[in-house]
Amino acid sequence: MANKNQHKVIIIGSGCAGYTAAIYAARANLSPLVFEGVQPGGQLTITTEVENYPGFPEGILGPELMERVKKQAERFNAKIISENVTEVDLSKRPFRVKAGNEDYWAEALIVSTGASARLLNIESEKRLMGHGVSACATCDGFFFKGKEIAVVGGGDTALEESMFLTKFASKVTVIHRRDQLRASKIMQEKTKKNPKIAFIWDSAVEEILGDGKNHSVRGLRLKNLKTGTTSEFACQGLFVAIGHKPNTELFQGKLELNPAGYIVTKDGSKTNVPGVFAAGDVQDHVYRQAITAAGSGCIAAIDAERFLEAATP
Ligand SMILES: Cc1cc2nc3c(=O)[nH]c(=O)nc-3n(C[C@H](O)[C@H](O)[C@H](O)COP(=O)(O)OP(=O)(O)OC[C@H]3O[C@@H](n4cnc5c(N)ncnc54)[C@H](O)[C@@H]3O)c2cc1C
Repeated sequence: MANKNQHKVIIIGSGCAGYTAAIYAARANLSPLVFEGVQPGGQLTITTEVENYPGFPEGILGPELMERVKKQAERFNAKIISENVTEVDLSKRPFRVKAGNEDYWAEALIVSTGASARLLNIESEKRLMGHGVSACATCDGFFFKGKEIAVVGGGDTALEESMFLTKFASKVTVIHRRDQLRASKIMQEKTKKNPKIAFIWDSAVEEILGDGKNHSVRGLRLKNLKTGTTSEFACQGLFVAIGHKPNTELFQGKLELNPAGYIVTKDGSKTNVPGVFAAGDVQDHVYRQAITAAGSGCIAAIDAERFLEAATP
């Protein structure tokens, strides 16, 4: 291509979806350019053991898995840039992507900017994430067999995760800021009937107690928001289930988003703008797994390749 910043395929995001799209696009000779963003490797880099990614019977550390996927993309000459994309113009092709002080152009664009689990944003949560604190029950429930754990949140996700966690934990205590749940009535009824689930109302987690060795959370310091009193609650793990936020600020008014802000995709990875594809958690509020993100990255690369093939005169 004439200009060094003109590319057949640009991929925004370097999680499982972005790097998998890069592997497929690179092997299809599309020389993709990947923008890593502020979290190179994506969400898996903030966890420890990943035990459900196929091909690793002993499990693998999240950051190591992502390092390997990155190497695989680089092996086929995907170009990776450590920049955050700050602006996109999707009104005409080639699409313009701005990162740092430069503009780049893409014949096809794959958006894989992921989603961020909403967290409590306290120091002990950061320190103990992956060491007794988790934001994903499907991913980490298995580590809490026979343990007493807590779940923070009051919506459908928090209750679904609590129900799921009773398969492993001996007791699950839901901690909620208010005295009423936001979750649907049916979910509330199911949860309240489960003998393994208890509730603590009107309370916020002020601190997670433990040194994190061998998943050794030993409790929580809770603050009752009505009385202002603090107390210690003994448990061996904490799941934060206060929602997810898709990283779609860049695409507001430019791509069709659902009411929760996720990119709407149809027929595989197609967005409402021909030539723009989306993959991974940014368009999936249901499954949110590394393997599903990787699978949809593959789909997006194949869709982009077919789009470019059809668009070539
Ligand atoms: C604590 C934790 C533990 C987990 N454990 C497991 C597990 O054991 N097994 C499992 O299957 N799943 C697990 N998950 C879920 C899994 O991590 C996600 O489903 C997966 O990472 C989604 O991949 P993704 O590529 O869609 O997005 P993400 O991993 O969210 O990556 C998004 C990427 O987009 C980039 N980005 C965002 N905005 C921009 C921008 N403006 N410009 C450029 N780049 C941008 C970010 O830097 C990042 O690289 C876990 C999640 C968390 C939070």
